[in-house]
Amino acid sequence: MALPRPGWWTEAGCIDADPELFYPPQGGSPRVALRICRSCPVSLDCFAYSMARGEIYGVWGGTTEGDRRRLRAGGLRTGNGGRGHHG
Ligand code: SF4
Repeated sequence: MALPRPGWWTEAGCIDADPELFYPPQGGSPRVALRICRSCPVSLDCFAYSMARGEIYGVWGGTTEGDRRRLRAGGLRTGNGGRGHHG
């Protein structure tokens, strides 16, 4: 998996959005957050960052907590033996 570009978050589509949309309470819907991610210019960087850091909670790079859990369980290939780039 590619490394996120330095400073990618300065272009984040969610920079002015309500953070609670990206961390919906249990039973809440991530739909609005995912819609914002779809038009975000740095969604791939955001996704790479979240996977490298092992972010468990919230919406990152157009993926939900469950999406990323399934990717990790499926043995997502990262090209570095599965270890995060930051640790
Ligand atoms: S992909 Fe989604 S969570 Fe990531 S920076 Fe863009 S809008 Fe925010």
